[in-house]
Amino acid sequence: MASFQDNLDKAKSYLARFRTDGVPNHIDGQSVPAASGKTFETISPIDQSKLADVAHGGGEDIDRAARAAKAAFPAWRDMDGGQRKKILHRVADAIEARAEEIALVECMDTGQAFRFMSKAALRGAANFRFFADRAPGARDGQSLKAPGQINITTRTPIGPVGLITPWNTPFMLSTWKIAPALAAGCTIVHKPAELSPLSASLLVEIAEEAGLPKGVWNTVNGFGEDAGKALTEHPAIKAIGFVGESRTGQMIMGQGAATLKRVHFELGGKNPVVVFADADLDRAADAALFMIYSLNGERCTSSSRLLIEASVHDEFVARLAERAARIRVGHPLDPATVIGPLIDSSHEEKVCSYFELATEEGATIATGGEKITDGDLADGCYVRPTLFTNARASMRIAQEEIFGPVLTAIPFADEAEALALANGVDYGLAGYVWTSNMTRALRFTEKMDAGMIWVNSQNVRHLPAPFGGMKDSGIGRDGGDWSFDFYMETKNIALATDDRPIPRLDEE
Ligand code: NAD
Repeated sequence: MASFQDNLDKAKSYLARFRTDGVPNHIDGQSVPAASGKTFETISPIDQSKLADVAHGGGEDIDRAARAAKAAFPAWRDMDGGQRKKILHRVADAIEARAEEIALVECMDTGQAFRFMSKAALRGAANFRFFADRAPGARDGQSLKAPGQINITTRTPIGPVGLITPWNTPFMLSTWKIAPALAAGCTIVHKPAELSPLSASLLVEIAEEAGLPKGVWNTVNGFGEDAGKALTEHPAIKAIGFVGESRTGQMIMGQGAATLKRVHFELGGKNPVVVFADADLDRAADAALFMIYSLNGERCTSSSRLLIEASVHDEFVARLAERAARIRVGHPLDPATVIGPLIDSSHEEKVCSYFELATEEGATIATGGEKITDGDLADGCYVRPTLFTNARASMRIAQEEIFGPVLTAIPFADEAEALALANGVDYGLAGYVWTSNMTRALRFTEKMDAGMIWVNSQNVRHLPAPFGGMKDSGIGRDGGDWSFDFYMETKNIALATDDRPIPRLDEE
């Protein structure tokens, strides 16, 4: 494994091009500045230093990108699926070849630890491979027989689509949206998050070097209120795939109404990990710690609420608090680091505000609950892994998405109370259930409000399985054929199979 110093040296050399040339938009195969000539700065949360000037795209840039995507659409749509498969596999090969560069750049831009980002870069390649293999069958449909008629369904790509992505694990999440859109035969305009735009710029470059035709993939940097909004309102864009906060999803739905945009939303979560006393408590503790403290807790599927059976509560939370306090917080490029800095100072302020709130609401801070203000980490957005105990379901710390390494523990007396607590939030993204009683697991999961539930496991993704949430956590599913259903129109062709009488309207 590379040392901390090796990682620092390599990151410096990979970032040099961004420091010199900035981060351009990418439209119709060209790297271009924003039409206005404006830029904004992307800052590293490690020490608040500037990493690069980024093109500040707006309506004019989105219009150019949408026109390019529209012009490139017919040829990409009509390309043989087998050919699209080859190109997308070449993109995956190229991502693998540059995985170290992607991971190091991502760490510097987002603050995520290298140990997780090196895997996330490879997962980006896996997303491309998965959908590449499905490209030849994307148009497949069904045959539905009726008396005197056979119905044939087929699918056709919907057109140019807009993809708007958040700042957390931006590379991996972008590939999760972009790969199925391209495999389906759509062209795209991607608007990456303004807080972590670097890896998106690498990704489009990699794809075109691997042979993706110009104009199929366009990237416009900028902020939600200008570039993002313009994308959702553009008439050439037929659908918006969005990953981000629930309230942004509400805005996008309104913005897209005039052009009847199809929307797919992957939004926030306040996901419970429900631990019954009969569970394997050692494994449950490992999973609970992993699902809230990996990826800085800046993860939509993080298990941010621990619902724990009262009979084992005290011992379990004491063990978690002691282990959480030992988790290593540090520079993201240090291979020993688990928790790096949060994405930026305003998000750090938001997370820290919940530390004060927890005390005001009457909960206990069992461990953490503070920003790191001394030593090497003082200039960055570092907080300690935190566990709140003595919390009640009505508290804001138990209801709101904090999106940091912060876990709120609440005891329950029985299964009915556990279910009421699990479902008693506005969100419904993911859930985790720990029990050795499989009948209970089936009974409980059937009633749980969550799009994805893992029993006796942390979040382990199987790419053909549906990914997405219910309630305020989203609309639609990704993965396998679910993605194609979003990026494609389904068409039905009915063929007569005999000469049945047709009602004659001009006969008495
Ligand atoms: P955000 O909603 O603030 O921003 C996401 C993207 O939307 C950014 O690119 C932003 O520029 C853009 N945007 C903002 N306002 C817009 C507007 N009016 N019109 C169009 N685009 C607009 O989210 P964030 O803070 O970047 O990301 C964190 C959130 O994402 C958390 O709530 C997290 O749970 C969620 N998330 C969900 C999933 C999932 O799969 N459900 C995955 C990752 C993150």
